[in-house]
Amino acid sequence: RKAEFARLRDTPAFTRDGSKITLLMNAGLAVDLDILGETGAEGIGLFRTEFQFMVAEEMPRLEAQTSLYEKVLEAADGMPVTFRTLDLGGDKLLPYMELEREDNPALGWRAVRMGLDRPALLRLQIRALIKAANGRELRIMFPLVANVDEFRAARAFVDQEVAWALKRGRPAPARLDVGAMVEAPSLLWHLDALLPMTDFVSVGTNDLMQYLFAADRGNPRVSDRYDPLSPAALRALKTIQQACEDTGTPVSVCGEMAGRPLEAFALVALGFDRLSMPPAGIGPVKQMVLSCDREAARRNVEALLKGSGGSLRGEIETLARKLYV
Ligand code: PEP
Ligand code: MG
Repeated sequence: RKAEFARLRDTPAFTRDGSKITLLMNAGLAVDLDILGETGAEGIGLFRTEFQFMVAEEMPRLEAQTSLYEKVLEAADGMPVTFRTLDLGGDKLLPYMELEREDNPALGWRAVRMGLDRPALLRLQIRALIKAANGRELRIMFPLVANVDEFRAARAFVDQEVAWALKRGRPAPARLDVGAMVEAPSLLWHLDALLPMTDFVSVGTNDLMQYLFAADRGNPRVSDRYDPLSPAALRALKTIQQACEDTGTPVSVCGEMAGRPLEAFALVALGFDRLSMPPAGIGPVKQMVLSCDREAARRNVEALLKGSGGSLRGEIETLARKLYV
């Protein structure tokens, strides 16, 4: 199978009925870059910048951050890379950063909330990204945005850092796309305001499902109590996809489900065409895409969503067997 996936590496991912699906890789450390070429990914859809902070012994300075981001951009060699700003807090702690203990860390001071309250930290990171881009294209996205004011405030830091670079005679990125992760369910009811402010969005299904179903993703007693293939989850995802299609906002899915062929099949059926996943998912997901009849999948999944039952996993599995195997 591994050899088979390797053979597919340079085959573009088109469904049988001719839809192009863009498959991207999730990464977070310099070592991930070594396999970027092998995977056949068309870029990095999620670069988790906090990993560098988590393996370091002290807070990485501007130079260390810049140097990692330069390596990433060089390895990507012109392919798009979406850098996510620090997603710390919750279950991601730093030994050298004292944080107050919280009763509900997943609902606490984490991700972009921390960045907005500690602007020096966030601005330094954005400065490093702009410096590393050195006039090339740059994509930045913010994790766990829960309302449009947070996105507006975070985006303003990017503008300030571009101005800061220009004032010092450094180049601004040739093109700068700033996006939000859709992980907080609150955004689903304010996409009409959010999408015009963003250049793209990426759906973080790991957190989105955790918050939608009120089930801690890291707690094995409850983390399997919900299914991303249940009607509630699929309808939430469809709402996002539809709003993005209606407004012409580029959207990708970068949670783990994008890397599991059956769940990726459902995403393709819902209309998503950019999926970012762990490297090992790319071969199997590409195989799914190549044999998938997307239009039939779309019709069938839409019909299933009208039903009143629980998880659609069984039905979607049956469908998938007909439509992609
Ligand atoms: C997600 O929440 O789906 C996501 C991609 O981000 P992380 O897993 O790093 O929280
Ligand atoms: Mg997340």
